[in-house]
Amino acid sequence: MSAAIVADRLGKRYGTQRALHDCTLEVPAGSVTALVGPNGAGKTTLLHLIVGLTEPTDGSISVLGASPRAQPTRVLPRIGFVAQDHPLERRFRVGEMLTLGRKLNPRWDDALALEWLHARGIALERRVGELSGGQQAQVALALAIAKRPEVLILDEPAAALDPLARREFLQALMEAVVERELTVLMSSHLLADLERVCDRLVVLASGGVQLNGPLDEIVASHRLLVGPPGDD
Ligand code: ATP
Repeated sequence: MSAAIVADRLGKRYGTQRALHDCTLEVPAGSVTALVGPNGAGKTTLLHLIVGLTEPTDGSISVLGASPRAQPTRVLPRIGFVAQDHPLERRFRVGEMLTLGRKLNPRWDDALALEWLHARGIALERRVGELSGGQQAQVALALAIAKRPEVLILDEPAAALDPLARREFLQALMEAVVERELTVLMSSHLLADLERVCDRLVVLASGGVQLNGPLDEIVASHRLLVGPPGDD
């Protein structure tokens, strides 16, 4: 399977602060990868490098065969991004967010967003600030999907949601993945719930890649390492 995202000894420093170092990994096209790690592990930094929001200080990053910073017009229209806490403009109506998306994105498909929002009972007239956290997350996902992305990057999209809204969000994401052969990379503090959605796992800690591979293999090998209770 070809790789949709390739990081080669990728690193990012902020002054003396090393946020990410020696990050070498491939995200296979069509895979759904969970990016897991504690606070400050470097998850957001890696995702921001992938979507071109920041420049590497070391190594390189390539998405769909091109550099997000050096060849933004080739890459960025093909990436959907849901930022941490999906910071939407609270004063805007949902419909106005769609209008903005249409203006900014060359591949935009209104029908995809409309269908998505309608299925979740979110009216275009509602102001973003009046929506629940779960609904705002669904709007953020609808806006990302309407870009018709090949790669979807989500930064802890469900972290602030209650368990029901979190389940609904992950269910919706699963539907999007099945319908559209997306490559997905999604960060989270916790692996719980993501096991249902993801087939691969990358574990970051202190800015470095600790584990990377098929989720079931990693989970199985860790059970082996840990061993069954009382078996010592
Ligand atoms: P969280 O789960 O808390 O969002 P994270 O895994 O996403 O954490 P990052 O936000 O990527 O981690 O941060 C990695 C490290 O880089 C942290 O030590 C953080 O303080 C530092 N860092 C991130 N952004 C900046 C910045 N703009 N300036 C200085 N240091 C930064």
